[in-house]
Amino acid sequence: MRKLKRLVEVDSVKIGANNPIVVQSMTKTKTRDLKKTINQIRRMQRAGCEVVRVALVNRTDAEALTYIKKRVSIPIVADIHFDYRLALKAIDAGADKIRVNPGNIGNNLRLIKVIEKAKAFNVPIRVGVNSGSLPQSILKRYKHPTPEAIMETLESSLKIFKENNFDKIVISAKGANVMDTVAVYRMINKKYDYPLHLGITEAGLSFRGGIKSAVGLGILLNEGIGDTIRISLTSDPVMEVVAAYEILNALRLRQRNPILISCPICGRCEVNLGKIARAVESRLHTYSDFMKVAVMGCVVNGPGEAREADFGIACGKHTGIVFAKGREIKRVREKKLVDALFEVIDENINNR
Ligand code: SF4
Repeated sequence: MRKLKRLVEVDSVKIGANNPIVVQSMTKTKTRDLKKTINQIRRMQRAGCEVVRVALVNRTDAEALTYIKKRVSIPIVADIHFDYRLALKAIDAGADKIRVNPGNIGNNLRLIKVIEKAKAFNVPIRVGVNSGSLPQSILKRYKHPTPEAIMETLESSLKIFKENNFDKIVISAKGANVMDTVAVYRMINKKYDYPLHLGITEAGLSFRGGIKSAVGLGILLNEGIGDTIRISLTSDPVMEVVAAYEILNALRLRQRNPILISCPICGRCEVNLGKIARAVESRLHTYSDFMKVAVMGCVVNGPGEAREADFGIACGKHTGIVFAKGREIKRVREKKLVDALFEVIDENINNR
């Protein structure tokens, strides 16, 4: 059962209060490298990213934000660690949201300065507690960064926000592993009604990171926990966005971007199906409409799966049949299959 959360607005994007789960990602460029950062943000946006976070490491990054804000049309979150003055500068530069880790921002007075400024400019704050930066006093008592230790750290940070009458808050809390993260989010969800930003931190390269994120976020989202997600991968941020929609699609929470269904290949296959599936997947990344595309290796399950999908290929011996909406459209040779499939997809999209 999904718990009704407060609404937090990040510019035009609504997080919480039963709005659809918002997909976020983070740039991997030096923010001060304007050309690369702006290009990357635009690519992420085209892939379906709805909120972009950028790292502010120094004053030059903070100043760059003013320029970036004028050239992109997507809410920008300024990611701040250690130096609270960068958070103040980011708000001046037009950041739509600030992400701080109270564990490394210094004493409470510094955090209060950030809260006061965010309040004056109506800018929300993500309070992100991380198992790697818990206060020594709490770590000493719990010995390890347990979910309870993370929860206590979060509670003491949120007290400061409450004392300063600030409630435009989104919470994130990252455990040391997937199941600790699941445990801590369950605890937070029970106690607070602030929207939750889900993510599995330092998840890994695309394959491993995607699996860990799908497991952790899959459990939580299926329990109705989570209002915005970021899939952290050591790879192109566009892949983070693609992975986020893949998880949301699988849970039937959001339907955007195509889904590729492909068979695992066995001894019956008589085409180079791996090559065909990779080519189809890479071309599908340029489409934003939700559609199921099946790439199947032989006549056993091929025609059936391909018919059930919106578009599909069912292969035979060095050849294949292209299907659209359950209808057989044409039979073509293996080399022409991918082009033939996309001709049919484009024709259908253009005729809508
Ligand atoms: Fe094997 Fe055909 Fe199934 Fe692919 S669709 S796994 S080739 S039986």
